[in-house]
Amino acid sequence: MAIEPLTNFVNGAFVKSGASEFLPVRDPGTTDVLTQVPLSPKEEVDAAVTAGAVAFREWRRTPAGERIQPLFRLKVLLEQNRDEIAKIITRECGKTYVESDAEIQRAIENIEVACGAPSMMQGVTNEDIARGIDESMVRQPLGVVAAITPFNFPLMVPLWFMPYAVACGNSFLLKPSEKVPMTMMKLMELVAQAGFPKGVIQVINGARDVVDAILDHPDVRAVSFVGSTPVAKYIYSRATANGKRAQCQGGAKNPIIVMPDADMETTTRIAADSAFGCAGQRCLAASVAITVGDARNEFLERIADAASSRKVGYGLDKATQMGPVITGDSKARIEKLIAMGEMEGAKIVVDGRQHKVSGYEDGNFVFPTILDGVPHGGELARTEIFGPVFSLTHASTIEEAIAMCNDRAYGNAASIFTTSGAAARQFRYEVASGNVGINLGVPAPMAYFPFSGWRQSFFGDLHAQGAHGFEFYTETKVIIERWPKEWSRKF
Ligand code: NAD
Repeated sequence: MAIEPLTNFVNGAFVKSGASEFLPVRDPGTTDVLTQVPLSPKEEVDAAVTAGAVAFREWRRTPAGERIQPLFRLKVLLEQNRDEIAKIITRECGKTYVESDAEIQRAIENIEVACGAPSMMQGVTNEDIARGIDESMVRQPLGVVAAITPFNFPLMVPLWFMPYAVACGNSFLLKPSEKVPMTMMKLMELVAQAGFPKGVIQVINGARDVVDAILDHPDVRAVSFVGSTPVAKYIYSRATANGKRAQCQGGAKNPIIVMPDADMETTTRIAADSAFGCAGQRCLAASVAITVGDARNEFLERIADAASSRKVGYGLDKATQMGPVITGDSKARIEKLIAMGEMEGAKIVVDGRQHKVSGYEDGNFVFPTILDGVPHGGELARTEIFGPVFSLTHASTIEEAIAMCNDRAYGNAASIFTTSGAAARQFRYEVASGNVGINLGVPAPMAYFPFSGWRQSFFGDLHAQGAHGFEFYTETKVIIERWPKEWSRKF
């Protein structure tokens, strides 16, 4: 039976795309085709932007206290549909059911924070900046804003943006990852039920052409992006060259330092969860461990055990601790990088290649892999792998280890494991990373903190989430007023 392709969600309705090309959306655990996603043409982006601009006229006049009511309803609907959504995420993205459920929680938290819009959008006023003259600043929404999102968090990443954008009075257009578009189409069913006015939230499915149509459309005022660094750079430069506000989160290569005084049992457990959770496809995943001094042998032994005992399988099987990677291409790329590490002189201590999962022989599985002695200056130590591969490298002192952390292009996350307050302080003070963990493997900021990537992990000024979200989606307007008494009519 032919699979019905996904639609777009435009002006409050599920609309069939007139696309001439479609891509299969595959279950990474089986490689079965789940659906087809349209590569929508530019005209469909134009129609959505027009609908968004029309919706904006009324939406911006709707009091913020009213605008957040459908967001409250959306939160409840997400909670009511949690199980179904977790299963959709697992089927199209591959992560385990528990990981999908955790993602939903993180998404909901962003809706909760965005519901603070009536306070967070408040302006400021100074009376008498000069005699009889008052000055105030108000925040106004921008208009139509857009987001372009990656495959690894099909629900959470779009909700880093959407709730803030609409709570501030903008209309919001999303292009989800063409690898995982089903979760967003389910969300649009809930958006329709929650009672947002038509055109306030829209989805256009597709790939590069949709992105370019968004970047070049004169009525799109701001663009949020999350994905790989080369695409982040491209989107940031084209969006800003076209006069748009942009925030673009890129790739990562996150180091953790393991000090000799660390509690090795906890450290290994947390480090393994960070490196292998979501099959290493998290932008905050630990990718390189720098062991300091005597930490080397014990950490290596324990992490090798943790890697080889991790249960790899299909994400909906209860016993599974780690699922597949997203595509066959991704699997091939990761395996090539493992071989490159070996060529550069690293020792493969646990080899995750060439394994099959019984019953899922066609799935894109790479098992946990440990490479020891990865040369710091080499290619592998610098390349984002985005798979369950943990590289170990060694330093003699904390100073050397911090210098190794800082000698890299990315600055998404960095962590230290230690029982020394002094070492922890030195690390958090000196490390060149925007999200820092102390005895934590995945330092993911809560929704009320900015997601603070640095360097090649972020292009822009205002980050996603929290107060930055409200600032990004509003423009400040300053009003200076003089109302002399003598001009007033006498009553
Ligand atoms: P990707 O860059 O391939 O794709 C992201 C989005 O960009 C998708 O919607 C895709 O359709 C679009 N896109 C891809 N190539 C394009 C092009 N040439 N022109 C225009 N648009 C294009 O990323 P991905 O593989 O979906 O996601 C994984 C990447 O995302 C990793 O690098 C990861 O580190 C990063 N990521 C970063 C964060 C963060 O917070 N910094 C969070 C999640 C993921």
